[in-house]
Amino acid sequence: MLIRILILLVIGYLIWRWFRAREQSTKPPEIRPATQLVQCNHCHTLIPESESTKVGQRVYCSEEHAKHHQDVS
Ligand SMILES: [Zn+2]
Repeated sequence: MLIRILILLVIGYLIWRWFRAREQSTKPPEIRPATQLVQCNHCHTLIPESESTKVGQRVYCSEEHAKHHQDVS
């Protein structure tokens, strides 16, 4: 009788472990901000890095601002 209870407990424990493992594996991956915000060197507007225009080490929000800065300097 005691062995039966022990077997049931072990089976129950294994099922619980299996459910927990499934729960963890089906969890969606953490959503991290894929885009990093950068500041325009001309108007200081924050824009996603993917949408920025880079001129050397400087970052601009648009081609226009990049050109403007080049014309000034
Ligand atoms: Zn700008």
